[in-house]
Amino acid sequence: MSGFSFKVNSSQGQARVGEFATPHGKILTPAFVPVGTQATIKAVSIDDLQKLKVQIVLANTYHLYLRPGVETIEILGGLHKMMNWNGPMMTDSGGYQVFSLGWAIEHGVGKVVNFLADDSREEEELKRQVVNSPKSIIPRQKLCVVDDEKATFISHVDGSLHVWTPEKSIEIQEKLGADLIFAMDECTSPMHDKEYTKQSMDRTHLWEERSLRQFEKFSDSGKQALYGIVQGGPFEDLRIESAKFVSGNNFFGNGIGGAMVSKSKMLEILNWIMPVLPADRPSHLLGIGGIDDILNTVGFGIDTYDCAFPTRLARRGGLLMLPEDGGKLSNRWTLNVVREEFKNDSSPLSENCGCELCFGGYSKGYLRHLYWAKELLIFRLATIHNLYVMEKLMAEIREGIAENRLEKVKERWMG
Ligand SMILES: [Zn+2]
Repeated sequence: MSGFSFKVNSSQGQARVGEFATPHGKILTPAFVPVGTQATIKAVSIDDLQKLKVQIVLANTYHLYLRPGVETIEILGGLHKMMNWNGPMMTDSGGYQVFSLGWAIEHGVGKVVNFLADDSREEEELKRQVVNSPKSIIPRQKLCVVDDEKATFISHVDGSLHVWTPEKSIEIQEKLGADLIFAMDECTSPMHDKEYTKQSMDRTHLWEERSLRQFEKFSDSGKQALYGIVQGGPFEDLRIESAKFVSGNNFFGNGIGGAMVSKSKMLEILNWIMPVLPADRPSHLLGIGGIDDILNTVGFGIDTYDCAFPTRLARRGGLLMLPEDGGKLSNRWTLNVVREEFKNDSSPLSENCGCELCFGGYSKGYLRHLYWAKELLIFRLATIHNLYVMEKLMAEIREGIAENRLEKVKERWMG
């Protein structure tokens, strides 16, 4: 993996500022990774992302495999070329989406199908149709069935049947060509009991070994680096066992996945596993990246976070507020510009933000109007603003660690 390196430049306790080199350039960590589900950060261009100094993006293997399909992406030159993004990129294994479809339906857990909310309503509707289709091959209440060999699932796009194996996930990720890729894991639901979670974790470890073997077939090229993933649900002994497994295998990075149940449980889990995971590898917290989540977990030595929240929030008219504009934990750093109270508000969103929305002087009343008139400009401007705030947060965190005053940064943002 000649094109990759990770070195810690400065640290405060376990928190660290890292320099992460990939074949597509360097990332300063801790870093936030915006989610480009369909190989695009919705509503913004690559030029917008570059102006925002976004360092790295994530694309979803599952979604891209189903549409436009791996063959098409290869013909279009691979993900980087296709998206016109020349910077570092990661893809997930697709496991989370495959299994969420299964257990979301099985357990009727509404919240865990949130990953689909990042897509259009049209897809949600298609998914409902698939589940309710009398032609469904898989039992009506389940979109995914799993055994040690494979996961079999129905596409939420067109109802077609697919078989997913660790080898296949890695093969697809190789073809997509992101710099950082993930081993395939089985994600359990917060509702699964310990017995199932243990069985599933053992399977994940088998799959991670298979992912690694598959990866080793082409890893000499030095174009990609593979992360393992710690699973084990909310159970201490399982989490530690899984962290030991990941540590003992030749992964480039530590991925931390799976059901966290609650924010306090997440901190407990990190408390168990971070001392076990090798500190000389970068650690990525999968699917987590709320402002408080980041502030509460950088102290464990987490280096990268991916989360759809700031961009999704933007598309619902939620604008993130900097601390100097009143953003704090109690208001979730969010100003909901769609509300009636902003109808005749001619003031700009922020005098302190340097993004295109704020610097351009667009008034809150105008933004509210754009939202209710379903004008596309609101999606672009709001997304730009929210990503700007996330980048500002991460820059302040890096500066705070380097200057040994991370607590001050946390106090400032939590309010
Ligand atoms: Zn702004």
